[in-house]
Amino acid sequence: MTEATIRADISDLPDARGYFGEFGGRFVPETIIPALDELEAAYAAAIADPEFHAELRHLQRTYTGRPTPVSHARRLSEALGGAQIYLKREDLAHTGAHKINNALGQGLLAQRMGKRRIIAETGAGQHGVGAATAMALLGLACHVYMGTVDIKRQQPNVFRMRLLGAQVIPVESGSRTLKDAINEAMRDWVTHVRTTFYLLGSALGPHPYPMMVRDFQSVIGNEAREQIQRLTGQLPDVCVACVGGGSNAIGMFHAFRHDANTELVGVEAGGRGIASQAHAARFADLDISRPGILHGTRSYVMQDADGQILETHSVSAGLDYPSVGPEHAHLRQLERAHYTVATDDEALAAFQTLCKLEGIIPALESAHAVAEAIKRAPTMPRDSVLLVNLSGRGDKDLDTVIDILGGG
Ligand SMILES: *Cc1c(COP(=O)(O)O)cnc(C)c1O
Repeated sequence: MTEATIRADISDLPDARGYFGEFGGRFVPETIIPALDELEAAYAAAIADPEFHAELRHLQRTYTGRPTPVSHARRLSEALGGAQIYLKREDLAHTGAHKINNALGQGLLAQRMGKRRIIAETGAGQHGVGAATAMALLGLACHVYMGTVDIKRQQPNVFRMRLLGAQVIPVESGSRTLKDAINEAMRDWVTHVRTTFYLLGSALGPHPYPMMVRDFQSVIGNEAREQIQRLTGQLPDVCVACVGGGSNAIGMFHAFRHDANTELVGVEAGGRGIASQAHAARFADLDISRPGILHGTRSYVMQDADGQILETHSVSAGLDYPSVGPEHAHLRQLERAHYTVATDDEALAAFQTLCKLEGIIPALESAHAVAEAIKRAPTMPRDSVLLVNLSGRGDKDLDTVIDILGGG
């Protein structure tokens, strides 16, 4: 990615106040505003500095293993008998998911700002691992807030973070999952704002985070857009990505936003089905989800009539979040992107299909995107191209899958 493209990208949205249309902004205590201003200024200086880009590019190449490939899912495409399915292989990035892209970018920024204490939140544990990895590489202290429910269901990642030298701080409040971990991390930031850098893991939170995380993840789409054209001679007809907070999806979508013939499709966690209300489908279930404010930004939020945040459910911890990045809310309103759901069962079926037909064990999050590809491909012509962002690998999910499917 050239500096010129990064500059062109950020001159789009958000606006100067951090809004994507009517979504985004900064809804935080006064005490955090100076820290956000400092961060915004430091980020603007960093992306105007060719050395920052050179350093990031160097680490992406020599440490993360970028560019990650785009693979033709030949047997899966044949079995479905429609569109040719291609996979952007973020599962092959160091640490096994896209989150390292953002962690390295923000880590370099923290280093530039002279902040030596890094805090982060984690749900699936993947952002915690990404953060702990990047901080070990850069030599910065790392504290990761994690709900105790997530600690239990993501044991291997907890152990990884500790091995990487991070301190994992258990969060017992609320539903003891990601949203509570974010609350605690924000509380920590308010108290230690001068020395501490808050490394936010998805395209969420107060401005400038949604923009910054998108920019650091847009390497996914920038690479994929070139790769798919080289492989197929065309742009994809459809791009599919799963949407938790929305970082892998926005990282993929951003490069294609002006390609009017490329349909952008985000897949939310349908959990046990929309009717069950046990899901994390912020855009699909407008009975219990509407615009509101969570974690410093205005977007769709799953809430009851009194505005109490609802508990969500997904088989994949990374999609189990009651709000969604504000840029997605905007893209949806513009009808530039469309959002759909895959249930737990559909994701588990897609997980097994990808294992058997392509020799790839996907993250359960990514399996939601694969499930949508499995639904759509048969309805598309054989010479059409469907690009799926395979956001991560599934090794971290084996315990969950064994519990559900049985070990035999
Ligand atoms: C965290 C995670 C997600 C969901 O987060 P986004 O910010 O929506 O990308 C998806 N896939 C994997 C593998 C993850 O680790």
